[in-house]
Amino acid sequence: MTSPAENSDVSTHFRTCPLCEATCGLEITTKGDQVVRIRGDRDDVFSKGFICPKGSSLKQLHEDPDRLRVPMIRRGDDWVEVSWDEAFAEIHERLLPLLDDVGRDSLAMVLGNPNTHNGVGTYYLRPVIHAAGTKNVYSASTVDQMPKHLTSGLMWGNANAFPLPDLDRTDYLFMLGANPVASNGSLCTAPDFPGRIEAIKERGGKVVLIDPRRTETAEIASEHHFIRPGSDLHLLLAIIKEIFDNDLVDMGRVGEFVNGVDTVRDLVAGVSVDEAAVATGIDSDTIGRLAAEIAAAPTAVVYGRMGNHTVEFGTLTSWAADVINVLTGNLDSAGGAMFASPATIRIADETPGGRGYSTGRWSSRVGGRHEVNGEFPAAGLAEEIETPGDGQIRALVNIACNPIRSFPNSERLDAAFAGLDFMVAVDLYLNETTRHADVILPPLNPLERPHYDFAFEGNAVRVVTNFSEAVFPASGPDEAEILARLALVLGGFGPEADPELVHDQLVDGVLDRELKSEHSPIFGRDKDEIVAELKKLPPVERIIDLRLRTGRFGDGFGANPGGLSIGQLKENPHGMDFGPLVERLPGALKTKSGMVELAPQLIVDDMARFEASRSSSNGRELLLIGRRHVRSNNSWMHNITTLVKGRSRTALFMHPDDAAAREIADGGLVEVASAVGKVETAVQLTDDLMPGVVCLPHGWGHQVEGTRMQIAREQVGANLNELIDDAIIDVPSGNGVLNGVPVSVAPVA
Ligand code: SF4
Repeated sequence: MTSPAENSDVSTHFRTCPLCEATCGLEITTKGDQVVRIRGDRDDVFSKGFICPKGSSLKQLHEDPDRLRVPMIRRGDDWVEVSWDEAFAEIHERLLPLLDDVGRDSLAMVLGNPNTHNGVGTYYLRPVIHAAGTKNVYSASTVDQMPKHLTSGLMWGNANAFPLPDLDRTDYLFMLGANPVASNGSLCTAPDFPGRIEAIKERGGKVVLIDPRRTETAEIASEHHFIRPGSDLHLLLAIIKEIFDNDLVDMGRVGEFVNGVDTVRDLVAGVSVDEAAVATGIDSDTIGRLAAEIAAAPTAVVYGRMGNHTVEFGTLTSWAADVINVLTGNLDSAGGAMFASPATIRIADETPGGRGYSTGRWSSRVGGRHEVNGEFPAAGLAEEIETPGDGQIRALVNIACNPIRSFPNSERLDAAFAGLDFMVAVDLYLNETTRHADVILPPLNPLERPHYDFAFEGNAVRVVTNFSEAVFPASGPDEAEILARLALVLGGFGPEADPELVHDQLVDGVLDRELKSEHSPIFGRDKDEIVAELKKLPPVERIIDLRLRTGRFGDGFGANPGGLSIGQLKENPHGMDFGPLVERLPGALKTKSGMVELAPQLIVDDMARFEASRSSSNGRELLLIGRRHVRSNNSWMHNITTLVKGRSRTALFMHPDDAAAREIADGGLVEVASAVGKVETAVQLTDDLMPGVVCLPHGWGHQVEGTRMQIAREQVGANLNELIDDAIIDVPSGNGVLNGVPVSVAPVA
């Protein structure tokens, strides 16, 4: 939505920030093709003016001279700018013969998380993956939240149904391994997360944070406890044990559709709270008190994030957090852990039961790693490229991902990528990963494209919906067209095939289901009539409109006059708020039984792996954890001066006692060594860290030849992923183990 100001060349636009999960509303003032100012949109129904430093940096991203604007083909050591037709012709001419020769599984798809931040793009990944015809699909999910996908699939039958902390109504927020003051929330879309924490305290509630570091979030929590990295599971199992032993189980309304409570009771029968105290560093009285408080609070929610999931027992840890929510009657209950209820679904029609969830439908060629959510572990990509034989990965389509900075054992992966026969990248930058590409296809910058958050309305703590129109005219094809053309080339339709084929196919897929569903407002309607209506819109808006109009507030293409549509959202540029989350169980349960499965067999089996590990643990080494900063966004916004200026934020944090024992001085240079790599970095001493723990941010280490990110290259900072062992994963989910990594640290002479 644009409104003219006093100067006809100046206009104001309102749109949602696409950079992180918080989905803040932005007010963007432009003059001609320049951004004059970006600030928080005070009228945004969800964020109410909140913004972080990254939001306003969309101006610098728009202006960044290093950002790619036209496709490029590599010729020897040189990059040549080409037309879009030439770029797709190159892919067709070089990739297709290779795939015909060595088979489709010789191609890997690698997907980064910006795909999730572009709802329309997310839809268009499906035809690309389908056309690629490979089982080698990798993404950032296996260095992040795959354990939560897995446990959600196993427990509720839907891998994308995350129990969300109902922040605005809870009395007791128990957080582990989350730093929302820096991250702005993850698997929990809640703009101004810090303000929502303050509100819990103001209404008499309590916020407890468990983290090996006294983080920015710890500063505003009611209570913070250090915990030994990787030991959250010990704590959660001890809390479950306390709940059982003290007869604190009260599942409330949800209790009548929960299977497996007795199995969980048996699983924790051997848990010792005293042993958990030793393992975690949190004394047993405190563990007992925390268990009692969670159970006694009128409403409470256990919420774990990165530090919970990117560990050796990430799946069990994710599961244990939700077990506590169930046992204490806080699942699907106001103020507890609730499921999203976005405007694009129809809750009233939901009935419990479904196909359930399965993993391991296929396995990787070299490591025998099993598939989860259609993906293999990121930690297994290098071995699949390096190892000769049938099915060896020899080509790659990399979409908005920087695995050479974000996947485990990144140096090994860097060497492996250098040996690929062909690589296509869809990316805004020539970075550490895309420098290996043969063809780079640059998408539009965020201000040039419309935006709708399919993914994050599914994680939002309120029922909010909004659509953002592009601020500037598109300077090239949008991501939907790029991905559609890529799908057509990969599918053998040639570089000149009309992307409208893919646009139509995607709409057809959604529309056909609606027309056949007796619960749909368009059940039995004439397809041509609906298609004709949708075709009045640009391709990227058609699916959005279709989903909105057939959703629970939708106009049903005339069945519910005045109901929701994309047109209505365009008239409401600050978004529309349909209230707090609503109860979704049992209807949302898509397990085969139609019940909550509290003790899935895969979980029961993995407890044996955990039991075995307890006897082999040792405490000789320092344990490495990651961190993020509000001015950083994984690896890809380090070329923005306004975000990286000032004092470097990339030093290794170390406790003074650990430093003294190694004769390390504050500000000195140290070598950090793990089982797979070494990096050198400056050290910063701080007692905000648990002794025995060191902490390094991820996404840095941009001093690499062959990139075109001048500002990023000038930044000091080591690459955390050079230290991450790709041989160690959370076995059930395939997730990388990025926290609790044993390292040694020594001064550099
Ligand atoms: S918290 Fe910052 S990066 Fe995230 S959506 Fe809001 S303004 Fe954008």
